[in-house]
Amino acid sequence: MNILLVYAHPEAKSLNGSLKNFTVNHLQEAGHQVQVSDLYAMKWKASLDGDDRTDRQADARFYPTHDSRLAFENGTQSEDIAREQEKLRWADTVILQFPLWWFSMPAILKGWVERVYAYGFAYGVGEHSDTHWGDRYGEGSMAGKRAMLMVTTGGWESHYSPRGISGPINDILFPIHHGILYYPGFDVLPPFVMYRTDRMDETRFSNLCTELGQRLDNLAHTTPIAFRQQNAGDYDIPQLTLRADITPDIYGFAAHLK
Ligand code: FAD
Repeated sequence: MNILLVYAHPEAKSLNGSLKNFTVNHLQEAGHQVQVSDLYAMKWKASLDGDDRTDRQADARFYPTHDSRLAFENGTQSEDIAREQEKLRWADTVILQFPLWWFSMPAILKGWVERVYAYGFAYGVGEHSDTHWGDRYGEGSMAGKRAMLMVTTGGWESHYSPRGISGPINDILFPIHHGILYYPGFDVLPPFVMYRTDRMDETRFSNLCTELGQRLDNLAHTTPIAFRQQNAGDYDIPQLTLRADITPDIYGFAAHLK
């Protein structure tokens, strides 16, 4: 498989740095082709702005969506964006690896998503009408590819359990899983979450690597999270609410799971 690892940690000697090295070696030894986007090492520009379209007039008003669309259609995106899109086209599987920072991904990775996910590439794909609201949520340009999150937390597993104070981990990761990965069509694998990682020693690290290695060995066979496809009949269109007769007592994120 072709595997793209998008990695967001500023320190090469960090735990995440060690896990990244383990992951790359493990995948390559198993015969996979691996590319790494090491965002801090690349000095990735995190903010989406007018400079992302190379042919924009300096004094023209900047419309994030419109300019993104024109730049994508006309081949005038900034080069770093186009390069990352090419890596996504190449990849069969994408892994996003990051420490949980303020209940989400580090800003640099969010900025990667905002800039690389251009209009026409990751959104604004397919017919948009009152009967078909685009190819998204299970369809789109990333359809047929798999994606998985590799996340380290400071908090304990119990803090992220169904009644834990920080909220269930599946709820916290829902906007990334459903909004960032499933939206453009990825099959989203269950995340590999490592809890309480500020308490680490060699034995625990070695056990974590064994577990992680098993997950990596099964990337192609792991059953994806069973999100409901937008265009498979479960939603009223164009309201895009779940049909009244489907799991009527379940609200919120859980309602979008089959
Ligand atoms: P490091 O600090 O690099 O290492 C962690 C431990 O692993 C250290 O003891 C280190 O010595 C050891 N270690 C490193 N490499 C190895 C190795 N090769 N072998 C053995 N041991 C090793 N946590 C939450 O739960 N929720 C949050 O919302 C949250 N928000 C945060 C926001 C910010 C801005 C920051 C800075 C932290 C936040 N945290 C949060 C904590 C954060 O998620 C953890 O600190 C992070 O996941 C740990 O990963 P790291 O790679 O930075 O670890």
